[in-house]
Amino acid sequence: MKLSQLFTKTSKASPAEAESVNAQLLARAGFVYQQMAGVYNYLPLGLRVLKKIQHIVREEMDALGGQELLMPTLTSEADYKKTGRDTIDVLFRTEGHSKSALVLNPSHEEVVTPLVQKFVFSYNDLPTAVYQIQTKFRNEPRAKSGLLRGREFMMKDMYSFHTSEDDLNTFYERALERYHKVYTRLGLGDLTVVASASGGMFTKDISHEFQTLCPIGEDTIYLCEKCNKAVNQEISMDHARCPQCGASPMVEKKSIEVGNIFKLKTKYTSAFDFKYKDETGITHPVIMGCYGIGISRLMGALVEVFHDDKGMIWPESVAPFKVHLMALGNDESARAKTDELYETLTRAGVEALYDDRVKASTGEKLSDADLIGIPYRVIVSPKTLAENAVEIKKRDEKEARLASFAHCVSELM
Ligand code: ATP
Ligand code: MG
Repeated sequence: MKLSQLFTKTSKASPAEAESVNAQLLARAGFVYQQMAGVYNYLPLGLRVLKKIQHIVREEMDALGGQELLMPTLTSEADYKKTGRDTIDVLFRTEGHSKSALVLNPSHEEVVTPLVQKFVFSYNDLPTAVYQIQTKFRNEPRAKSGLLRGREFMMKDMYSFHTSEDDLNTFYERALERYHKVYTRLGLGDLTVVASASGGMFTKDISHEFQTLCPIGEDTIYLCEKCNKAVNQEISMDHARCPQCGASPMVEKKSIEVGNIFKLKTKYTSAFDFKYKDETGITHPVIMGCYGIGISRLMGALVEVFHDDKGMIWPESVAPFKVHLMALGNDESARAKTDELYETLTRAGVEALYDDRVKASTGEKLSDADLIGIPYRVIVSPKTLAENAVEIKKRDEKEARLASFAHCVSELM
């Protein structure tokens, strides 16, 4: 994509309402635009990142055997009365014709449980797992951390259905492994740990949270630095000793919850009287699990974790483009060579953002490249042309280096 064609612009100043680093940098670089507190527009650069996060999550959920579907945003309040969740404080409500009470789904247990019930009757139909990537609505009281806490936000939610707790446990362990793969592919593998936590508003059982270590995180966990086991502060009675390996002490850390998984068991299936018939024709309640990933929160978390004083530093797997190309020195032959490089890369399927702006100064081009944070910066100028070369620098490297055109292209392939 050519930068001159992009309708968004970067800005030096952060919007006044942007309090967190992710909100500031994403807004300054033109990735998002805040509509109101906790509600964002995803602009072309930001949407590319969001889609890449979705793609990774989708591949891993498909590999787990999840079947993707898309459930509605609007649901009748009556379904929430069945589970008792009509009283939760973050629920957004609206009204249909004849004053029918509607809810904007904060998650989809009340939709997915009766939906799957329509198709699943016997042990033969189980286990099964469905997932979606969809917008959720929660009237969060403190929507001040940019994408970390939205009132309208994007989540991947998966729900699994089983004949027994054993079968749920087996699937749950596989889901845990897949979740690790997701965070590793996002570049957050080393920073993301599994914490035991309470089931929150969903269940009395323990849940597992995927917590990305980050000083600005809202959550506090106790981490065993020997075996990486973590426990959320909210359930930790004794954090002197690791419950898994016995090492002590556990270290207090701040973290961002980027996903969590619950064994719902029969909480929702009994509310909807969802049962299956076993081999002998006897009916039993279906056993259920649920598995969430904060897609848009992850975009914010990646910025919080990977940035410096100049801007964002995207991991290659989710960067909006792989290469940020520019010609410097207001020079015809440098421009022609950059055009050629852009064509070559694009034809080879390498995603390149080409800063082809004629009026932008060298300083503007360089500071925009740092702000936007694309992994590779490639510069062509009269100076590099004199060496028959281009200058390559990775966003997280200090020093640039010269490379021949052929080398440059093969490195970026
Ligand atoms: P939190 O404890 O942060 O309020 P939660 O425990 O209520 O989140 P779930 O309902 O399990 O979260 O949602 C699954 C995932 O969706 C969370 O792990 C988180 O990554 C993300 N998420 C939850 N609430 C928000 C929000 N308001 N904005 C953005 N992402 C969210
Ligand atoms: Mg939570």
